[in-house]
Amino acid sequence: MLTNKVAIVTGGTRGIGLAMVKALLEEGATVVLAGSREETANKAVEGIKAENPDAKVEGIWPDLTKYEDVKACFDKIYEKYGHIDILCNNAGVSARDLIEDTTQEMFEKVIDINVIAVFNCSKAAYEHMMVQKSGCIINTSSMVSQYGQPSGLAYPTSKFAINGLTLSLAREGAKYGIRVNAVAPGVTNTDMVKALPEDMREKLKASLPLGRMGEPEDIANAVVFLASDHASYISGQTIRVDGLATV
Ligand code: NAD
Repeated sequence: MLTNKVAIVTGGTRGIGLAMVKALLEEGATVVLAGSREETANKAVEGIKAENPDAKVEGIWPDLTKYEDVKACFDKIYEKYGHIDILCNNAGVSARDLIEDTTQEMFEKVIDINVIAVFNCSKAAYEHMMVQKSGCIINTSSMVSQYGQPSGLAYPTSKFAINGLTLSLAREGAKYGIRVNAVAPGVTNTDMVKALPEDMREKLKASLPLGRMGEPEDIANAVVFLASDHASYISGQTIRVDGLATV
């Protein structure tokens, strides 16, 4: 479904992002995965190539919180391939502290990677997509953007912002044929969830109407759909991929 497309996936080294990278590759895309460090990006690329030596994948490691750094990296990708078709803004961090234990610095750290980095990457890709008059940006939001959560205030704040950015950039980019959507995963089986206390994980799992946690591939499948021509009339949406989670 994605032959000849060039995709960039931030946070593509593990978890949901790595599943996106693999799913996009399977559909024929060339994929550039962004990691937070050279070492983790290279390790992810090596792991994928060990499974499939023909995989058209490479790694980058810009500081996503610095626009100039991101722009330099994305410009190189554009120069190399001549187009950037898909951007998955997936890198993210969570938060768990109560407001009385959260400093401004802690709050800003979450906003920096979950919101400012999404702005930086979107802007750097959008500038090329405008010229191409086509492109697709897919942000990773979260179920907490529907419900909030009773601690870790910065995290739902950041994901509500992502839904707003998604809808607004979709409206702005439509005239250039740029579609912008988001996926809102529920409880998904990655390091982020494994880091939660056991009792919290069990409680979350028990609350899921479909009776299981999401797997990274569940989210990646929705991303492939949104990136494909099957979704050519869909923009500005935040699509829940959460097993009908209600908390
Ligand atoms: P994860 O911790 O396994 O992966 C997070 C990814 O983000 C990693 O690749 C990491 O390198 C990258 N990252 C984090 N900080 C970074 C930084 N400063 N610079 C560059 N990259 C950085 O988590 P995951 O569960 O795969 O999360 C992926 C996305 O899905 C996140 O946006 C997260 O908020 C969202 N999400 C996850 C769940 C879940 O239950 N796992 C639910 C809803 C939304």
